Amino acid sequence: MYIDAHAHLDQFKENIGTALKIINGERILTLGCSMDIASYRFTKEISSSSEFIIPAFGIHPWKAAENLDMLGECDKLISEAACIGEIGLDFYWDTNKENYPAQYEVFEHMLDRCRLYGKVSNIHTKGAENDVLRLLKSYNVISPIIHWYSGEIDILKKMIDLGCSFTVSVDAGISKATRELIKLVPSELLLTETDGPNSLVWINGKYGYPDEVKNIVRSIAEIKNTEVEKMRDIINSNFIKKLNLFKERKE
Ligand SMILES: [Zn+2]
Repeated sequence: MYIDAHAHLDQFKENIGTALKIINGERILTLGCSMDIASYRFTKEISSSSEFIIPAFGIHPWKAAENLDMLGECDKLISEAACIGEIGLDFYWDTNKENYPAQYEVFEHMLDRCRLYGKVSNIHTKGAENDVLRLLKSYNVISPIIHWYSGEIDILKKMIDLGCSFTVSVDAGISKATRELIKLVPSELLLTETDGPNSLVWINGKYGYPDEVKNIVRSIAEIKNTEVEKMRDIINSNFIKKLNLFKERKE
């Protein structure tokens, strides 16, 4: 089995059938993150056809402004979902400062509910790493998963101290910063992710299917100087521990 702890299944569009075949065939346990209510409903629907898909509900920071008046409706979905994501802040790709108050409001609402319902969160931090760290501390949420971290090393160290896990993405064998992160983060806090099909296009022009996680595990193993199978087993057990948290909180 492999782990994809941050995927966007709705982004496969007409290729979703192929993606599902790969997920089931290769046994890739997949946390299907949401951008908004519609994408959560899509992922929840297809999760009924595969034991390897776990739907996560969240409002992505890029979608915060347009979903501000939907927060009341979100609470039921937050309480039913196994995990809350993708949520967070983004001051790098979202250059429109007018959106930032809405990003804070949505993210803080989600963190408050994560604390209230005891949910594990899946967090986007791009260009807002310090603020995310500050808010994770102040809302005292359990065991967050930090997605594709690319910020300063000193903030990364503080997130490690806080007990965050980190999903390593498709640039594992390519990016110098990701190599540094893999070296620094203890193996028991590492997970793997593909971030949907379009992230690999962004890295090397290729369309990314879920089995890209195999290449990521290989890169992590090489950097950690560990056998590939051993690394895969460590990542699997890291995610199973998270899953148990999901389940404990659900009951
Ligand atoms: Zn994402």
